[in-house]
Amino acid sequence: MKLVPRRAILLALGLVATIGSARRAAAAVGKLLEEGEPLARSIGYVANARTVDPVANPGFKRSQTCTTCAFIKFGTGKQRACSAVADRLVESAGWCKLWKIRGSK
Ligand code: SF4
Repeated sequence: MKLVPRRAILLALGLVATIGSARRAAAAVGKLLEEGEPLARSIGYVANARTVDPVANPGFKRSQTCTTCAFIKFGTGKQRACSAVADRLVESAGWCKLWKIRGSK
């Protein structure tokens, strides 16, 4: 009986885990991000920037919405993909603590 090297087993397990993660991420692409989700809460996402608490977010300015953010992707619709959250859809009128002005690096 031939023994399988320990390294080969670890590589196979790592590959299976990576494929699982990629599948979960791909399944979420295009799905609307909801405010109550852990991911949304972790970045302070709100679907409507008018509801941002300026006291809790002192750097927030009324001109900041997902539409004006560097992470928003193609399109002009009401809901668009955001690269900061693995291309999940966000409301164009939304906002989160990752907001970054378009054209900045
Ligand atoms: S990173 Fe930008 S586009 Fe994405 S949710 Fe936050 S503010 Fe909106």
